[in-house]
Amino acid sequence: MHTHKVPRHACPTCGIGNDRATELPGVNDGDKPKVGDHLICFNCGQLCRLGVGFVLEPADIPASASKKERAQVKKAQALIRARGLIRPPIIHSKWGRK
Ligand SMILES: [Zn+2]
Repeated sequence: MHTHKVPRHACPTCGIGNDRATELPGVNDGDKPKVGDHLICFNCGQLCRLGVGFVLEPADIPASASKKERAQVKKAQALIRARGLIRPPIIHSKWGRK
C-alpha cells in the first residue's frame, strides 16, 4: 500500500481539499492514480471517479470491480462514515465559500 502525492483536488460531495491518494491493500500496488481510477474521500467516504485535470465526480462502484474490491470499498466507506467527518463540508454558493 503506497501513498502518492497528487495534484490538489476537492471532493465533489464535501468540498474538502486533498493532495494525497493511498491505494486499497493489494489493488494496483505502486501505481499512481490515473484518469478513470476511483478514489474514496477520506473525509466523507464518497467514491469518486478521477477525470482529466484531477477533477473528481461522484461515482458508484464500477461493474468491473471484483468481489474483493467491492468489499474493500464498502469497508473503507463504513469505517470513514462510522468515524464521522474530520472537517465540516465546504458549501459553495454564488457568493463564494461559506
Ligand atoms: Zn468528501
